[in-house]
Amino acid sequence: MPPSRLRLHISQKAETAIRGGHPWLFADSIREQNRPGETGELAILYDRKDRFLAVGLFDDGSPIRVRLLHSGKPQNLDDTWWKEHLRQTLAKREGLFDAETTGWRCCHGENDRWPGLVLDRYDATLVLKLYTAAWFPWLDKLSALLTELIPHERLVLRLSRNIREKAAQSHLDDGQVLRGVIPERPVIFKETGLRFESDVIRGQKTGFFLDQRENRRHVEKLSAGRRTLNAFSFSGGFSLYAARGGAASVTDLDISSHALENAHRNFELNRDCPPIARCQHETVQADAFIWLKEAPRKTFDLVILDPPSLAKRETERADAINAYSFLARQGLALLRPNGILAAASCSAHVSAGEFFNAIRAAAQDIQPRFHEIQTSLQPPDHPAAFPEAHYLKCIFLRL
Ligand code: SAH
Repeated sequence: MPPSRLRLHISQKAETAIRGGHPWLFADSIREQNRPGETGELAILYDRKDRFLAVGLFDDGSPIRVRLLHSGKPQNLDDTWWKEHLRQTLAKREGLFDAETTGWRCCHGENDRWPGLVLDRYDATLVLKLYTAAWFPWLDKLSALLTELIPHERLVLRLSRNIREKAAQSHLDDGQVLRGVIPERPVIFKETGLRFESDVIRGQKTGFFLDQRENRRHVEKLSAGRRTLNAFSFSGGFSLYAARGGAASVTDLDISSHALENAHRNFELNRDCPPIARCQHETVQADAFIWLKEAPRKTFDLVILDPPSLAKRETERADAINAYSFLARQGLALLRPNGILAAASCSAHVSAGEFFNAIRAAAQDIQPRFHEIQTSLQPPDHPAAFPEAHYLKCIFLRL
């Protein structure tokens, strides 16, 4: 006999959160559970009056015990539902990109009701990144769905560090090619007409930081004639835009030699663009926290700061704000008159307001009447549907 449906009755507080759109049920909010659950099976949540509340993926190994797929009216998650769910997610991106951009985020986790799952597209390669083992039993179904709805040649599986051991038990591996052939070299895609490599098999995240596209476009508009420093450059995303916008020179600064080699190749890939061919490009492999402090003052006209997340947990928030402030002060000190600072943060634990104010305060100390050019949050293919999902923010200002 098949096991009965997994049914959970939950606390009032969790009920309110879920009705308010929160995408998770924590283990300590479960009041009653009809039987032990298996990671990956569907769990149905009921309110105190025994009414259907939501359905989601059960995860026995995580304090986030259920990640919601659907809430509201009772719904059977059959094949038709899954297909429609993916179709609607893809429809949200329709019209956002023209043929000059072939890399974007198709599914942004919880915010698109694909909890713990990210799907990025790099030209004809799809990269599926999982953050919970609860998706493992669904991989065949997912792969079939993707084949049906998104034309692609290759599907690559990426796994967050914490689920790799569990994955090995299911014969799954980070970087495994689920469909198509293993790429011989990094995949090449276009962003706003620029060609970039993405190391989809081993690179950070899914191989590229697609979330900075809009901020890079803004850098292009501001870079003409400017000596530019791109700190925490990774593969030179911002740098190629700055170069195309007419920057006099671009210096990529990163601690990773792998990232800087990638930046060189990205410049090579775009040599046919005259301003990029003309732009003087150099790379510096160093710890930015040290290099910025020691670099000669007033030598740049545009400084970009895009460090990795500096607060991985709430307890690191205050230190992270101090670190952002430190970086901004160092970056500002390198600017010549009329210089521009672009500072970004991807720490979800530091709010946009806290971050912007820290950077403004740093600027004010150097020049009380600096000009704030703009602030920005996440791009439309990285929507934020609940408070914890807001992570990216960027501020541009001119001295
Ligand atoms: N701006 C990039 C993304 C940056 S990701 C883009 O647009 O694609 C953060 C980068 O910071 C990574 O490449 C990582 O190697 C680098 N990094 C991490 N710690 C560093 C440090 N202390 N000094 C310099 N670079 C560092």
